[in-house]
Amino acid sequence: MTKASKLGTALVTGASSGIGATYADRLAKRGYDLILVARDAERLKALAERLTRENGVQADVLRADLTERADVLAVEKRLRQDGSITLFVNNAGIGPKGPLLTSDADYLDRMVDLNVTAANRLAVAAAQAFAKRGEGAIINTASVVALWPQAFSGTYTASKAFVLILTESLAAELAGTGVRIQAVLPGLTRTEIFDRVGGSFDNMDPNMVMDVTDLVDAALAGFDQGELITIPSLADKALYDKLEAARGELRPHLSLSRPAARYLADAA
Ligand code: NAP
Repeated sequence: MTKASKLGTALVTGASSGIGATYADRLAKRGYDLILVARDAERLKALAERLTRENGVQADVLRADLTERADVLAVEKRLRQDGSITLFVNNAGIGPKGPLLTSDADYLDRMVDLNVTAANRLAVAAAQAFAKRGEGAIINTASVVALWPQAFSGTYTASKAFVLILTESLAAELAGTGVRIQAVLPGLTRTEIFDRVGGSFDNMDPNMVMDVTDLVDAALAGFDQGELITIPSLADKALYDKLEAARGELRPHLSLSRPAARYLADAA
């Protein structure tokens, strides 16, 4: 039997493939024990066995369909009650299936259930549990489309903007609690995300598609550097800093007792 890790346990959602499976691999190499969450229990079991064999860590499987409330609540319970959990990688998500004007409304509902409702519920649960313990970290997988709403259909890009804004707001609340939070904004990353919706990376500009191991290694480097927002593709960080500075300049003008002059009836 393996001994409990000194780093604690990382709970990773969407761990059966792509970015989540790669986080699981990298975190196991760092020495974290793992709780792997997704629907495909066979894949999770195979991954857990490999990670234990290769790294000597403990790896549990928690099968959950995060569009099902009962399953979300089971994962929430684990986050709240398992004091060994020190890192939550809030990553499970599904991708866009074409324009909204021709999209199936039920698919969009499932996307919101997973990318927004479950991500929110679990992030809040982890934040509350970790804040009580005075330590812990949350990594939320957002996307660069949070900053580029037209890149894909709106329900997907809005779901990722939700994750970014949630992270920024939670970070302010978590200041001084000992709990860290990071939003990772991947660009196109070679995973199964488009295969699952009948798409493919084959028709995309290869210069825009990152390998998943490069993506996760860069995201973890950003995490190690204490970043709140990590955009693995972004070479010139000053570009993002400018955007943040512009938002900061707007802030004092966003909520005032009177409408702006151009909206007043007597504005000629
Ligand atoms: P992926 O390879 O398709 O992985 C998605 C993961 O989510 C799988 O482990 C899948 O496992 C799990 N999942 C899907 N539906 C689920 C459900 N109902 N309940 C629980 N788990 C579910 O795609 P990925 O690219 O790694 O996606 C991971 C995250 O990265 C997503 O949040 C996505 O929005 C984000 N992202 C991806 C890209 C990209 O280009 N790849 C870019 C930006 C952001 P099961 O099928 O076993 O449940």
